[in-house]
Amino acid sequence: MSDKSRRLRVAIDGPAGAGKSTVAREVSKRLKLKYLDTGAMYRAITLKVHREKIDLANLETLKEMLDRTTVQIGNDKKVFLDGEDVTEEIRMSHVNDLVSPVSCISLVRKRLVAMQQAIANESDRIIMEGRDIGSRVMPDAEFKFYLDASLEERARRRNKEQLEKKINLSLDEVAAEIKRRDEIDSGRADSPLTRVEDAVLVDTTAMSFDEVVDSIIRKITEQLH
Ligand code: C5P
Repeated sequence: MSDKSRRLRVAIDGPAGAGKSTVAREVSKRLKLKYLDTGAMYRAITLKVHREKIDLANLETLKEMLDRTTVQIGNDKKVFLDGEDVTEEIRMSHVNDLVSPVSCISLVRKRLVAMQQAIANESDRIIMEGRDIGSRVMPDAEFKFYLDASLEERARRRNKEQLEKKINLSLDEVAAEIKRRDEIDSGRADSPLTRVEDAVLVDTTAMSFDEVVDSIIRKITEQLH
């Protein structure tokens, strides 16, 4: 049995491009927490849907695919789909374009939420980021944050990251892609992206990466002492 008083579980939610992954990874290093990028799990399943050209209206085929699929996430941010390293491919446009429609499907969410909760239950010290962590995956997390930024700023940051990876999309294309994903993620019936009441809002529009990380660590350590 875990000692509940030692638990430190941190939920980070927010729209696409708000900097959740980079911030969560840094906080995990500094506070020695396990880190889980749940978006990577949805992306891996989406890649398989794409490769197998699965019709999203056909839930039987989708279920059959999920039954024979494994997704593993290493703490070093590597993502494996049925044992294959798909870390880079899941960030490409063909996955970006399909991931939100796939993530609306309750069958998919049920499977991935169960996996995420099993991982959370094994660990007393974990930081998890996504869209429904504070609302559904870890509603009893000790700390919840909602990271946001203006669409322009999120698109600018995402565009910079993509150019470094030699993905050539214009700023307008990136803005349109993340706006479309946010609309689908916020509008879906099953655990939509929302800021839960007990989540601390961090508007990162005018903040540097270090400022965001420091503000989160400060909030956590203040309350722990
Ligand atoms: O975090 P990231 O942008 O990589 O997530 C990709 C997509 O996965 C999101 O746009 C959303 O559709 C889905 N997602 C989700 N629930 C989560 C994490 C991600 O629906 N907890």
